[in-house]
Amino acid sequence: MSYLVLARKYRSNTFDEVVGQEHIGQTLVNAIKSGRVAHAFLFTGTRGVGKTTMARILAKALNCLAVDEPTVEPCNECEACVAISRGDDMDVIEIDGASNRGIEEIRELRANAIFSPSRCRYKIYYIDEVHMLTREAFNALLKTLEEPPAHVKFIFSTTETQKVPATILSRCQRFDFRNIPTRAIAAHLRVLCEAEKVQAADDALFRVARAAAGSMRDGLSLLDQLMSASGEVTDEGVVRILGTPSDERMNEIVGAIADGDAAAALGALAGVLQSGVTLDSVVAAMGDVYRNMMLVSTCGGDSDLIELPEMERRAVCELAGRFSTPVLVHALGLIQTAGRNIRGSSVARGLVEATLVRLAQSEKFINPESIVERLEQLSSTGPDAGQKKKHL
Ligand SMILES: [Zn+2]
Repeated sequence: MSYLVLARKYRSNTFDEVVGQEHIGQTLVNAIKSGRVAHAFLFTGTRGVGKTTMARILAKALNCLAVDEPTVEPCNECEACVAISRGDDMDVIEIDGASNRGIEEIRELRANAIFSPSRCRYKIYYIDEVHMLTREAFNALLKTLEEPPAHVKFIFSTTETQKVPATILSRCQRFDFRNIPTRAIAAHLRVLCEAEKVQAADDALFRVARAAAGSMRDGLSLLDQLMSASGEVTDEGVVRILGTPSDERMNEIVGAIADGDAAAALGALAGVLQSGVTLDSVVAAMGDVYRNMMLVSTCGGDSDLIELPEMERRAVCELAGRFSTPVLVHALGLIQTAGRNIRGSSVARGLVEATLVRLAQSEKFINPESIVERLEQLSSTGPDAGQKKKHL
């Protein structure tokens, strides 16, 4: 049995299925229903957020052969729908802007665009990474955009809108795709695991979603790796594939710091490193934990800014209660410095350990500058400064 990657097996087929981009699906549905479909669309957003998926759904909506006019519910079964889903329909031409960026390719496109579509209502050109086109190619494209044949539609997509000329932008209806929230990615991964009858721990799925950083495609490809490695999704599997320490381990380190127990913090660090996690990843994970604690401390434990599974959220709230906000802010600065300094350093581990000791024994490490400042204040206000203050 051949294995079909999740991204292809479960590609969304209707406008409302594209996770995180419901606002775009709804606008396109309204446009089709009211018969006011633009000639050219620009889809912008980072990689893996659903631009190509949405473009294919739009192409199917315009060209589905099961009905006589554009529909908001393409059948996904007719020859056109099936071919468009595969990305090789004769009337829906997908062009990779990165490898077809020259004037010749666009001239060819223009020469072909004047011919009617062979079986569908529209000839649709989907140019991915359109910002890669050369200036000459853009100019040639512009001529077609200014006077497009009635049977032609353009869908452009780009990760770098600022590189698309204003003359092109002004002729397109623009749609900004959002980075997909971690929670939405995790929920979608959960649905796929259930469909595939794969056991999956909530924490593990959430961690995968977090690592995907807004990209559903990255989330799915990580899930693919996990499933093919062990057939189930466990926290250990995720730690192994991502190379990031588990939340539990990180909480152990931070708990030791809260106790002021530097030795325990170093012991916990050694345990993390032994499990094969790199120093970089530990420092990044430290930064995440401290950021989340700072968010709890300033915005409260229920803040939407804190993207954690429920158990981990509770753990972080508890830890945050053991630090003051200024201490957390200061710690983030120290962690950032450590992260920068360990690159290329021969004493990288020592630097990270020193940071942990400093965090655990913070009362012993008062910033020397602040002492000097305080002494200066005392000497300038004189011996009866306290007296004056009382009178004020
Ligand atoms: Zn169809």
